Amino acid sequence: MEKREELYSGKAKSVYKTDDPDLYVLQFRDDTSAFDGLRVEQLEDKGKVNNIFNAFIMEKLDQAGIKSHFVGRLSDTESLVKKLDMIPVECVVRNLAAGSICKRFGIKEGMEINPPTFEFFLKNDELHDPMINDYHIASFGWADPAHIEKMKEITFRVNGVLKELFLKAGMLLVDYKLEFGIYKGEILLGDEFSPDGCRIWDKETRKKMDKDRFRQELGSVIETYKEVGERLGISFS
Ligand code: ADP
Ligand code: UDP
Repeated sequence: MEKREELYSGKAKSVYKTDDPDLYVLQFRDDTSAFDGLRVEQLEDKGKVNNIFNAFIMEKLDQAGIKSHFVGRLSDTESLVKKLDMIPVECVVRNLAAGSICKRFGIKEGMEINPPTFEFFLKNDELHDPMINDYHIASFGWADPAHIEKMKEITFRVNGVLKELFLKAGMLLVDYKLEFGIYKGEILLGDEFSPDGCRIWDKETRKKMDKDRFRQELGSVIETYKEVGERLGISFS
């Protein structure tokens, strides 16, 4: 497999073509952004930590029968993935209240959300990722109704697997965002699962162990990402 030209450079990762038309290389960079790209900083080792973390989670999901674009890790900061036609929506499941849901509905941070709730957001930084519903997705052609149902179903299945995984390691999976795409007609989980796109709290102290450390300037961002991984049994060396 040969890495070819860069196709796209996002806020945290770059996408490269390969000599195989069905495969891309995802490169995880050290860039860290918040507030729709308004604040960007480089955090040493972030690319490596998130790439290794994501590979571990994608393998766990695969073992649980949840298919993703992930093919394998190529280096500290690169992974090989199946080329997806991305669906431009973000799927969010919440087990505990934090972030935008607290502001939107006046809910106190930390309140248990039972049953866990699901939200779609349009992936569009200029519009600040507005919340959308199934009807918007179907009417504007972002995905067809069968794929909309699949995205919900798979996102909840991921919750079943990962909530348990984090809990066993003494952590609470507060919420997370997933992205999906189409590969040869089939919907697959895409993008990444890392502390950049979810909220994780220590079960006892409720210490924030995710990107809120960056958003809220709490310090020790990557050290804490590593701590999350190490508690799950990941080695970053
Ligand atoms: P953003 O675009 O939100 O700034 P990133 O910096 O993470 O995000 O860039 C990665 C981009 O690659 C995202 O737009 C994501 O939707 C896209 N992507 C993720 N996985 C795949 C894939 N398998 N095939 C094609 N594009 C992908
Ligand atoms: N999230 C993300 N990318 C986004 C928006 C949200 O990865 O563009 C994640 C975020 O890290 C959190 C979850 O989705 O784990 C819910 O985010 P929320 O709606 O609370 O938005 P926030 O206030 O974090 O912007």
